[in-house]
Amino acid sequence: MPKVLHRKNWPSLALLAVLILTVWQLRAQGRIWFCECGQIRFWTSEADGPHTSQHLADPYSFSHVQHGLLLFLFVGWAFRRWKWPWQLWLVLTVEAGWELLENTRWVIDRYRMTAALGYNGDSILNSMGDILSCGAGCCLARRIGWRWTCVLFLVIELTMLLTIRDCLLLNVLMLVHPLEVVKQWQLG
Ligand SMILES: [Zn+2]
Repeated sequence: MPKVLHRKNWPSLALLAVLILTVWQLRAQGRIWFCECGQIRFWTSEADGPHTSQHLADPYSFSHVQHGLLLFLFVGWAFRRWKWPWQLWLVLTVEAGWELLENTRWVIDRYRMTAALGYNGDSILNSMGDILSCGAGCCLARRIGWRWTCVLFLVIELTMLLTIRDCLLLNVLMLVHPLEVVKQWQLG
């Protein structure tokens, strides 16, 4: 058996398979590889503009760190018998599924009804960055324990609320049940 197929590499190989399938499916859903501005940047501080969700990371990456925090709390509890590499794999697979859902026409159009008027889906580079951010959140949650994970989650919520007038809870709320008053505040 080739060394790369050794049992200890299975979680990495499984993750690689998920990432390849995700990229392939995102491409099939019509997503572009990277920002239309033609540059490949690690970070853009723009929270609501043409570069948002197009480069590797932006303020919304912190929402994906939060996904990692929450998903590890759940997976670490519900799948506590699983070895850590497989727990990480599961978290990232769920996140990859979310990226696919988030980049369907239906969800993109729903986002456009919120304050994200010009939103037209993530670039594939940004989706990979989002999955990476989620992985960082997952590793962090495992290190710091559930109490600090909850604290960190709230700190990110508040910081995002104060800096870009958006956060994970509002994001989900506006996706499920858009409120005009929130939309006006976010645009204002
Ligand atoms: Zn750009």
